[in-house]
Amino acid sequence: MKPASTMHAAPFPAATLAHGRPYLAIPGPSVMPDRVLRAMHRAAPNIYEGELHDKVATIWPRLRAVARTSQHCAIYIGNGHAAWEAANANLFSRGDKALVLAVGRFGIGWSESARAMGVDVEVLDFGKSSPVDLARIEAALRADSAHKIKAVLATQVDTSSSIKTNVQALRAVLDAVGHPALLAIDCIASLGCDEYRMDDWGVDLTVAASQKGLMTPPGLGFLWFSDKARERCRGNDLRTPYWDWEPRAFGTEFWQFFCGTAPTHHLYGLDEALTMLDEERLENVWARHRALAGAVWAAFDTWHSGNPNIAMNVAKASDRGWSVTAARIGGNDATRLRQWCEQQAGVTLGIGLGMAMPGDPAWHGFLRVAHMGHVSAHMTLGVLGVMETGMQALGIAHGEGGVLAATRALSAR
Ligand SMILES: *Cc1c(COP(=O)(O)O)cnc(C)c1O
Repeated sequence: MKPASTMHAAPFPAATLAHGRPYLAIPGPSVMPDRVLRAMHRAAPNIYEGELHDKVATIWPRLRAVARTSQHCAIYIGNGHAAWEAANANLFSRGDKALVLAVGRFGIGWSESARAMGVDVEVLDFGKSSPVDLARIEAALRADSAHKIKAVLATQVDTSSSIKTNVQALRAVLDAVGHPALLAIDCIASLGCDEYRMDDWGVDLTVAASQKGLMTPPGLGFLWFSDKARERCRGNDLRTPYWDWEPRAFGTEFWQFFCGTAPTHHLYGLDEALTMLDEERLENVWARHRALAGAVWAAFDTWHSGNPNIAMNVAKASDRGWSVTAARIGGNDATRLRQWCEQQAGVTLGIGLGMAMPGDPAWHGFLRVAHMGHVSAHMTLGVLGVMETGMQALGIAHGEGGVLAATRALSAR
């Protein structure tokens, strides 16, 4: 028995409101549903035959359905950065040309990965707050009369800026110019959140990863590719056995799908996540994300009305993604607010990735709110309520009634 005087040698922690289930409102990894976690909690399965094989056979058609394609799908063990490299390895030979459309950190990231692999990359950079300019894209395609550009790479939603690119409009520009380049879209932050229809929209390659709208821990990357892309890209010399999509999509032996040991537990988790998306129906999943995004935007509009320093990054709602909202709070208030929300209320908000660099004082003025994946009205309203509470507690000026505006947006939907 310790003497009473030493029993609380560590300082007695101050009371906070952070105890209870924490909520990670960052744009990936997103909230893992308990059902997904439970599906993964099992002994290692046999990878040569049996249940896992049967399960994977049902995963392919459902994965294709999530991207709204009837074409081809390859699964990689890797995160989104790995999926970019998989895309590059299959799309290009050394020295081939890519046109990359950048509206934030992730477009730039994909371009860097392609360049490092030996692709001749031209970047059209539209900055961090406005959507792509279709006229500039059209001019770049027209200037390429020799059709050297083999593929146009773009993000549907750039998670750093939350800017959405209108994929159908991109397709229309390619068609209007009569340019044969393949259209490749990074949907890592938007698949299973924002409306996306690969085949109807004439997309040749879709890239995604498991840990955002697909509600599964980070570790799986996906490519969906068209017949046209498959034919056009045969024999590309950037392909190595691991990244080649052919055996992964058309293998006859189970091990070929994963180029070795299958990502066993991730597949169980993914199977459950796809079941959840099927139960809700994808159209309803999109509608839920759109509604919750609208609630977040309504709150920001109200906060902005009392403090011009608080502002969403993207001015027009139609240019904003439905899964994440990037915003400026000003000064170092974004960092103060993030810290308050996490330490005092159990909500972790996203850093302002790519809007400023760490070390730059402006870094502390930006944050992101995720409304991505396994997220309900009570979760999003909770985040907004906590943010408003934090602004009050920290004395950050803001228009009052952000949460009220959010409830009106949701009740009027
Ligand atoms: C998250 C993300 C990536 C990177 O994915 P990682 O799994 O972190 O490598 C790429 N592009 C977009 C649009 C993303 O949201």
